[in-house]
Amino acid sequence: ASAKTTDGKYLIGTDVTFAPFEYQTADGEYVGIDIDILNAIAEDQGFEYELKPLGFSAALQALESNQIDGMIAGMSITDERKASFDFSDPYFESGVVMAVGASDDEITSYEDLAGKTVAVKTGTTGSAFAESIQKKYGFKLNTFEDSANMYEDVQAGNSDAAFEDYPVMAYALNNDRLKLKLPTEAEPGDNYGFAVNKGMNPELIEQFNAGLINIRANGTYQEILDTYLGENS
Ligand code: GLN
Repeated sequence: ASAKTTDGKYLIGTDVTFAPFEYQTADGEYVGIDIDILNAIAEDQGFEYELKPLGFSAALQALESNQIDGMIAGMSITDERKASFDFSDPYFESGVVMAVGASDDEITSYEDLAGKTVAVKTGTTGSAFAESIQKKYGFKLNTFEDSANMYEDVQAGNSDAAFEDYPVMAYALNNDRLKLKLPTEAEPGDNYGFAVNKGMNPELIEQFNAGLINIRANGTYQEILDTYLGENS
């Protein structure tokens, strides 16, 4: 079965606040690198879709239960997820990084997290990374459903640190939107992919990959990055 709407549009899930990959403008429109890439690929490959900004973990669940056909949400391609989902070719390099309050001089390494509270977002690789080092460094976890609330908790001083994707943090800090800083280097080796439920909509993965090759070749992919990240992206 497919979740497709009766008029033949694929339902594609995404996150709610994950700039520059997906975020809402003042007039409520969703924009961002993921949205523009999906749009360009759909146009190139001739398919139609309806965007479903569900939030990250809600989109994962919707995809797993076939309520949506695909998902683009700065979603990292991981071996664990490959058991449940089929991924496109990678389209953007990423990695998890630790963020602390802008005036925090106490936390300069993971060791300094002992006895502290760390904010994470449900179902993310940032959350999985924090969990993987939690015993070693001895901190508590505070869980959030979206990135905006997670940052807010650190800025308000309720949580001492957060684990988030580096390109998302870098964008927020460049645009002066957060009173946070990044005391350590990002954890490398992460890539974003478009996903479908395992074994479902294989034609959608094929079209995404074919379209990605085309928009890389015709300059559209780079134009999209330039739009959101500036000319040196
Ligand atoms: N890249 C991270 C992951 O896949 C976070 C994605 C997100 O928060 N939208 O888990």
